[in-house]
Amino acid sequence: MRKDMIDSQKAFGYMKSLSFERRSGSPEEKRAALLIAGHLRKMGLKPQVERFDVDVFSFEDAVFEVTTPYKKRYKVWPVGYTKSTPKEGIAAPLVYIDNPNPGTFADVRGKIVLMEGGFTSKTYQAFVENKAKGFVRISAPDRLVYGKLSHILPKRFGRVPGVTLGYEDGLEIVSRGASYGRLISKTSTRKGASQNVTVEIKGKKLPNEVVVICAHYDSVVWSPGATDNAAGSALALALAEHFTKSPLARTLRFIWFGCEEIGLIGSFKYTEKHKKELKKVKMVLNLDVGGTLIGRINAIITGDEKLANYIEVLGKETGAFSSIVADVYSSDSVPFAEYGVPSVNLYRGGGGTSYIHTDGDSLRHCGPSAFETIGRVSLEFLRRVAEAVEFPFTHGLPVSIQEKLKKYIENSGRFYKYKGEKTEK
Ligand SMILES: [Zn+2]
Repeated sequence: MRKDMIDSQKAFGYMKSLSFERRSGSPEEKRAALLIAGHLRKMGLKPQVERFDVDVFSFEDAVFEVTTPYKKRYKVWPVGYTKSTPKEGIAAPLVYIDNPNPGTFADVRGKIVLMEGGFTSKTYQAFVENKAKGFVRISAPDRLVYGKLSHILPKRFGRVPGVTLGYEDGLEIVSRGASYGRLISKTSTRKGASQNVTVEIKGKKLPNEVVVICAHYDSVVWSPGATDNAAGSALALALAEHFTKSPLARTLRFIWFGCEEIGLIGSFKYTEKHKKELKKVKMVLNLDVGGTLIGRINAIITGDEKLANYIEVLGKETGAFSSIVADVYSSDSVPFAEYGVPSVNLYRGGGGTSYIHTDGDSLRHCGPSAFETIGRVSLEFLRRVAEAVEFPFTHGLPVSIQEKLKKYIENSGRFYKYKGEKTEK
């Protein structure tokens, strides 16, 4: 095997072993964590499993019925972290809204609202304060996308019933001018548990300087989560296997996060628990989405211009990336960014990744060759930064990225608390 390549056959094997529904906080998620720990032990490493508490939602029964001007029952699914209706349901006028925003919620009082998009913190607050009776989220065409709220929103603003409806049914309801209906939904939230899996390959020269390589291993409901994110989890495993045999100057800390899909809970728990050690974490390489035979590799840089330029040069040298942008990636690098830790997020998008968060996110779209280039560029990047005489990047995010981070965190209902070092512009 070449020294500048990971074993892509093995990486795909790890991906296969993890491609089953691993819904956040479930026994299947735990099984996946134990599988990852088992793979690591076989490499001679000593993984730790860090357990944490989490509120998990159940996914029981729901019905949506149009009663005026025609009568028909539709199959729907409760949205996670919503409230159950009374047994007989709630009957109310229906209103369709294009775009949930505080302004359009002025006339939702006492109504069941049909809409396409999800909520931000502000729109959810307005929705609850305007006393809407419930909501029906219309899914995307050709795919049923599961629904959940940010778990923080109901805690802050109160719970309302809400369900997800298939696109074709939504189209029928809107085109037939449904004006009155009934919603029955049964769901609940209970205390559950999840876990992060961590392992370290100690640096030979600078063991107190750490580069984190992370990936979430949970999936959404109904989905085998092959590309999102058995792929990133498998790539992280293959990288760990590679560097076990040839450690670098700095420490590599690998983390497989649980409960990313219900609000980055595993990674927020991790940064909270390990906040004192985050000063040592120089950089995060986050791997979320990949594995597709047909696809392109993209890089999202949550850091300053220097880092973005560096990745651009790396991109030119390797020809690996189809795009490089400076932004916040909706994934486990966010909690690190709050502490000013810069990150590089790599994902292979396109092809089968359009089935993400559906039952179609399966191995059918995937194969070993998907790991070759992303594996090579990840190795190259890690080797450069973890072997550098002086670490080339510092903590702190530019103001433009801080603003994006603030918006992202506040939309989820969390309070933004940037704890990183300030950077000027
Ligand atoms: Zn993901």
